[in-house]
Amino acid sequence: MPLRRVLDEKHSISIDRYFPKTLQGGGGYRYRVLLGVGGNIGDVKRRMNHLWFYIRRLSLMKIVRSGVILRNPPFGYTEQHDFENTVIEIATSLEPRALLRLIWRIEKRFGRRRSFANAPRTLDLDILFFEKRSIRSKELTIPHPHWNERISVTIPLGSLAHKSTRRHYENFDI
Ligand code: ADP
Ligand code: MG
Repeated sequence: MPLRRVLDEKHSISIDRYFPKTLQGGGGYRYRVLLGVGGNIGDVKRRMNHLWFYIRRLSLMKIVRSGVILRNPPFGYTEQHDFENTVIEIATSLEPRALLRLIWRIEKRFGRRRSFANAPRTLDLDILFFEKRSIRSKELTIPHPHWNERISVTIPLGSLAHKSTRRHYENFDI
């Protein structure tokens, strides 16, 4: 049964069947990764539920847990619909660049078209944290820049950051 809690006139939290949720398993994979999930075109919460099932069918990554869904206003380019954001913790043995490529494929599968920076999107998947690693390359910045200034990240992340999650990313103050 979906539940919505209004925080203020611009922010609300949704609790849904699969958000937040913790699954058993994820053993047998090398790494733990926190993914940021967002979108603001069409029925994003429905798409997040589809994403949940889509990832569950993949062998390259396993869902460990998910956070609450936060509805929040856009930043940067503000003439667009509000966003829904959540986080999903996964287990994988892919290295970061291979994971980024898989993420691009999934975004595409869910209708993502690239236009301009901060443009409306059906599904945005970002690598927020990859174990305790810091990466700065042309393609990848990990931890994801500004994660701790964005309520779109901190509220969903805070909803799942209990002890066993924190341990995997302990260089960072999540
Ligand atoms: P944004 O998520 O910043 O709104 P995009 O989703 O269009 O923008 O991503 C733009 C580029 O950001 C990607 O092509 C990717 O190479 C790069 N990028 C850098 N760091 C990350 C990260 N941690 N997770 C995902 N993409 C990243
Ligand atoms: Mg992105």
